Amino acid sequence: MSSNESAPLTAPDCLFCRIVAGAVPATVVAENPAAVAFRDIDPQAPLHVLVVPRDHHADVAQLAAADPALLAEVVSLAELVASDESGGQFRLVFNTGPSAGQSVFHVHAHVLGGVELGRINA
Ligand code: AMP
Repeated sequence: MSSNESAPLTAPDCLFCRIVAGAVPATVVAENPAAVAFRDIDPQAPLHVLVVPRDHHADVAQLAAADPALLAEVVSLAELVASDESGGQFRLVFNTGPSAGQSVFHVHAHVLGGVELGRINA
């Protein structure tokens, strides 16, 4: 089911599906019909917000293949948060796969900013 319909796609035992549903508390800073933005519980920068689509997709590659318009909604919400909190400048990170550091398998964009960010170190 797409995000335009009434009930989002969910996966059992998915932490971020539970946050989207309001079953697990989170500090939500912005939302739209397709996506939710909430503060990372372990922030790595003054601005560290996670943006997740309401629909469950495991990672950004699967989201891009299944619903590219929804990926655009995620990026748009990230830009809105950064406009509010870091002057519109931000780093967007999608860890994809365990060896890339992904630990929650519901696609999420890390929106990082609010400080001078250095070069990315692999
Ligand atoms: P990743 O390692 O890229 O999958 O990112 C998962 C992120 O989720 C980490 O930065 C965690 O700090 C964050 N996180 C885990 N549990 C929660 C939670 N309950 N609320 C907000 N952020 C969380």
